Amino acid sequence: MSSPLRRLLQLAWPIRNWMLLAALLGSLTIISGIGLLTTSAYLISMAALHPDVSALSIAIVGVRFFGIARGSFRYLERLVSHRATFRLLANLRVWFYSALEPLMPARLLVQKDGQQHELRSGDLLRRAVSDIDTLQNFYIRVLAPPLVALVIGVLMWIFFGAFGIVFGLIFIAFYLLSSVGIPWLAHLLGQRVSREMVSTQAELESQLVDSVQGIADLIAFGQQERQAQSIERMNKKLQKLQMTAAYVSGMQGTLTNLLMNLTAWTMLLVAIPYVYRGELSGIILAVLVLGALASFEGVLPLASSFQQLGGSLEAARRLFEIVDARPAVQNPTTPSPTPQDHSIQVKDLSFRYEESEPYVLRDVSFTLPRGKCLMIVGPSGSGKSTLANLLLRFWDYQEGTMTLGGQPLQAYQQDDLYQQMSVVEQDTHLFNTTIRENLMIARKQASEEEMIEAARKAQLHDFVLSLPEGYDTAVGEQGLRLSGGERQRVAIARAFLKNTPILLLDEPTVNLDAITERAVLDAIKALRQQRTTIMVTHRLAEMEMADEILVLHHGRIVERGTHASLLQSEGLYWRMWQQQRARTVEAV
Ligand code: ADP
Ligand code: MG
Repeated sequence: MSSPLRRLLQLAWPIRNWMLLAALLGSLTIISGIGLLTTSAYLISMAALHPDVSALSIAIVGVRFFGIARGSFRYLERLVSHRATFRLLANLRVWFYSALEPLMPARLLVQKDGQQHELRSGDLLRRAVSDIDTLQNFYIRVLAPPLVALVIGVLMWIFFGAFGIVFGLIFIAFYLLSSVGIPWLAHLLGQRVSREMVSTQAELESQLVDSVQGIADLIAFGQQERQAQSIERMNKKLQKLQMTAAYVSGMQGTLTNLLMNLTAWTMLLVAIPYVYRGELSGIILAVLVLGALASFEGVLPLASSFQQLGGSLEAARRLFEIVDARPAVQNPTTPSPTPQDHSIQVKDLSFRYEESEPYVLRDVSFTLPRGKCLMIVGPSGSGKSTLANLLLRFWDYQEGTMTLGGQPLQAYQQDDLYQQMSVVEQDTHLFNTTIRENLMIARKQASEEEMIEAARKAQLHDFVLSLPEGYDTAVGEQGLRLSGGERQRVAIARAFLKNTPILLLDEPTVNLDAITERAVLDAIKALRQQRTTIMVTHRLAEMEMADEILVLHHGRIVERGTHASLLQSEGLYWRMWQQQRARTVEAV
């Protein structure tokens, strides 16, 4: 079950009855169309002979019937096929999202051409939105038309055959040529184009999202011109592809039309001698010709059907790529154990992101009893955030052990793990909504009083009250209407609200000025009470708060102890301390 086509069909399996019904209704629509034209032809030919009106009445009823039936069947077919497809699309979105979520944040890499590629947010957005939309075409425009064309082909073959074998043969020869031959040719010509169109469009959209997100930097570095040019180039490429695609479909349309008319003419030319010889009634002549024209209605949609096939398959391939990616971390199949307490123990931990890469952490060990505070310091790139992310189980480690409350970290369901931890990172992501909602995501069922209490403890309350709309103030996209310090205090208020026994702080004050840092640190000190805390920092402030300090360097613990003992030993920690003091003095 590896080809995308088969997998796409499998996905449609739950709605197969609806799809079949849609194809049946589609066939009935075309049959009504053929009925309408042939009975009309019959009626007009008959009428030319001036028969009694009663002789025409059946044909008149037929024309009326087919005219009304055609419209009704078309309406029902649209209703059924769209209903089925939209239901399928909704399922596909859920299917895709559930596959995507466990991949975050570790596996933003996908396999392509045997290499790993990093996914950009624009690309991901495209997969989640447009690629799934493209599949809509697959089910409506690609899957149904061949079925309909088949039904019409068989029925009309029998119909024409009934007037003479030769008519059946003429019909089926032209019908096959235009329903199989031409689409196949168009597919060969357009396959590469439609595939490339999907990937170019994806690339263009990633670039656009990138430019919008990085607009401030682009302007600051005067790069907007270059970025615009690069997008322009991509646009040109896309235009060229679209042009080629248009040529192919134009050619296909022309050829199909040509064949349709050739069929009608051939029927006419072949049938005339039969009429002369009296082997065929003259009235039937028009029926054959118009019937042949009308039956090509089943062939016409095949043009776009085959053209969309390449794009649909490419979209499907891109979706399966994500769905098939293996999450970096697997949830255990058993329920989480009950932790004995809220202590954390790490023993001989070594970790690297990829087999081929060097170790980022080497032989890290520490024991953090319940309610105590561990600080991790070290130069940039020494592995501090990696250690924090391992505690959150964003990745799994290869060597050593990590336990929480005496139980290995891997034994916990991810959700249960997050229930016990609050995290404050360097940058707090705020959603584009009110402050209230941004706080409440920490605990949905919290009351207004609890929320205000948390904000008060985080020293956020007074600030919020100073805003025109208080807690109902919108924070703007990514919370950009708040300053860095205010965003961090929102994060701390969230942690207060979530009220977990364990705290994980990763350089929570790194982007703040000294005065704001003070206020945030005060809030952190209040939050820390009684909670098992791990705080990563590279600014050495409030270090007395720590029961133990680990100094990381190139992934190894090079020093450990309390603030006082580390200063005494005059090692790396002492040097960092001196440097920072010098800088502070300079700044003042
Ligand atoms: P710190 O937080 O101490 O500045 P990090 O833990 O972020 O350091 O990074 C430690 C090392 O791991 C760096 O060399 C960094 O390049 C590497 N690293 C961090 N994240 C990833 C990742 N997702 N994939 C591969 N390497 C990474
Ligand atoms: Mg870091």
